[in-house]
Amino acid sequence: MSISLKVRGAIERSSWIRRMFEEGAALIAEYGAENVYDFTLGNPSVEPPAAFRRELRRMAEKPDLGMHRYMNNAGYEETRASVARHIEETSGVPVNSKHIVMTCGAGGALNVTLKTILNPGEEVIILTPFFVEYKFYADNHGGTTKEVWTNPETFQPDIAAIEAAITHNTRAIIINSPNNPTGAVYSAETLTALGRMLDRKQGELGSTIYTISDEPYARLAFDGNRVPPVFRYIRNAVLVTSHSKDLALPGERIGYLAANPSMDNVALFMEGAVFCNRVLGFVNAPALMQRLVAKLQSESVDVTEYQEKRDILYNHLTGLGFEVVKPGGGFYFFPKSPMDDDVEFVRQAQKHNILLVPGSGFGAPGYFRIAYCVEMGIIERSLPAWEKLAKDIGLA
Ligand code: PLP
Repeated sequence: MSISLKVRGAIERSSWIRRMFEEGAALIAEYGAENVYDFTLGNPSVEPPAAFRRELRRMAEKPDLGMHRYMNNAGYEETRASVARHIEETSGVPVNSKHIVMTCGAGGALNVTLKTILNPGEEVIILTPFFVEYKFYADNHGGTTKEVWTNPETFQPDIAAIEAAITHNTRAIIINSPNNPTGAVYSAETLTALGRMLDRKQGELGSTIYTISDEPYARLAFDGNRVPPVFRYIRNAVLVTSHSKDLALPGERIGYLAANPSMDNVALFMEGAVFCNRVLGFVNAPALMQRLVAKLQSESVDVTEYQEKRDILYNHLTGLGFEVVKPGGGFYFFPKSPMDDDVEFVRQAQKHNILLVPGSGFGAPGYFRIAYCVEMGIIERSLPAWEKLAKDIGLA
């Protein structure tokens, strides 16, 4: 046996994802990509904003001397200052470049943060349904996860349930808004209640409990709403995010972490994060992308396109009798599975060339996820297939 037992176990436990992926690829080979409705991947269908290409071209034509060299592990001062300005403008909380580390995406920022704060065996609370990588990321740094269900009527965090889960061993809680997989946007009331409860518990326990706010979908909020800025509500908050979704650059691996300036011992946290960015082997976030996003902090992909897709699918699915909490942002639905066994439901959907992910993959059996970040044509062509599926399983 050559590789780590833990990694082998993780691969085996997630082998059904690979199987589904292979079955999906076989359907595409048989029917053609335009006749298979692949809602499995959170890969943006839209292209980066025009300003991105403009800046890229300008940099290629007029390169700065030394622009491909190593820099400070935290990232370029100019980029961090630009990110800090954006956070300050959107939150009203004074932040500066000292509070920012540029990272390899939100995934990199999560790993850097968890490595910075976790002692072996300490707990990270995650909210069900959750982005499954959180479990692996906590484990990467010797931590364990404790799952706490959100309110299933709204998918908002259940503050009393989180409070009941907190112990002396709790080091952090990860929140994610707009949420993957539910699309829920946490309200200002929820964040206020969470912040107050955490302040009280930290006082009682005499410890610091970090709130890691994972926000790669923060600029994808619908109906003219804005995602409430976490720093306004939660003192010991670390914002982790990326430009994977808002600038549609997931392959470029560019993101950042930001510490709330009012956090306990913030300078030490930042020193730790810069060190961890280095020793995790990231060293620094990609130089070219840092230079670009410094100029693009007020840019975003067109949110109305996602909102339109949400509306078409939401109206169609609810019309057919599916139970869905209407998402306030992001690009996912997390409907109730009309069959008890969500894996079996996903198999039934596959018979109609609709590819989905079972809720079990997010710690929430009995649900399924639709990633609607696909071409509008796919959504439109899928509508009759949803109808047939609903009839087939006796829903409509
Ligand atoms: N967090 C959530 C909730 C996500 O959905 C994703 C990606 O899909 C990430 C983090 C990772 O983002 P990135 O590509 O920026 O590492």
